[in-house]
Amino acid sequence: MIAAKSLNAGYGKLQILYEVDLEARPGEITAVVGPNGSGKSTLLKAIAGIAKIFGGRVYIGDRDATKMPAHERARLGLAYLQQTKNVFQNLTVLENLRMAAYTLDAERFRDKLEEVLEIVPIKPYLNRPARELSGGWRQMVAVAMALMRDARYFLFDEPTAQLSPKFAADILTLIQKLRDMGHTIILAEQNAKKALEISDKAYLLVSGRVNYAGPAGD
Ligand code: ATP
Ligand code: MG
Repeated sequence: MIAAKSLNAGYGKLQILYEVDLEARPGEITAVVGPNGSGKSTLLKAIAGIAKIFGGRVYIGDRDATKMPAHERARLGLAYLQQTKNVFQNLTVLENLRMAAYTLDAERFRDKLEEVLEIVPIKPYLNRPARELSGGWRQMVAVAMALMRDARYFLFDEPTAQLSPKFAADILTLIQKLRDMGHTIILAEQNAKKALEISDKAYLLVSGRVNYAGPAGD
């Protein structure tokens, strides 16, 4: 589970989020929707340890992560996926995956890779430089990298922005697959309709506050 309790957060002295309460459960997709600038990305960043927390708490699994730096949150299995910034452009896809799983020896790396390629269909691209991939495939590689390091908590920030409808559908299918594996997923989307179709629960942010929290269908 990922939880925020009375979370106040922002940047420097600038407060963006006010008393945000959120609970995202394993095996569920929790959508965070709201207009431009309402604080969706800031909420994900506060959970990931990138935005500043002024007050309240963040829990990841059963751990209080409020004061943990970002790298320690990653060690708890948290993956923060921004659309373009997760993949090293100058490395091949395989090198990116190797990097993500640097703690594994060669044999465990091969086993893990096989397992991940069952989930994320990027096998034909393994030897291609990441910079040659389209945004959609790069997003897939980023998910594969997170799975290589056994991430269980996924924060997706606008994963389908700027993608063609076909790619957007593929990414949403992959996110549903992660959900069905029992992972905890928070999905920030400006296009509420697209997000709500695959989400179990939804939070509507307006000016940094939760305006609605409940089933995604309503
Ligand atoms: P969008 O739908 O456009 O992605 P959002 O809901 O994700 O919007 P945020 O990116 O969280 O909104 O931005 C919320 C507010 O925080 C905005 O007023 C924005 O200008 C401000 N903001 C975002 N990042 C920073 C930063 N690094 N430093 C200062 N202010 C920031
Ligand atoms: Mg945003």
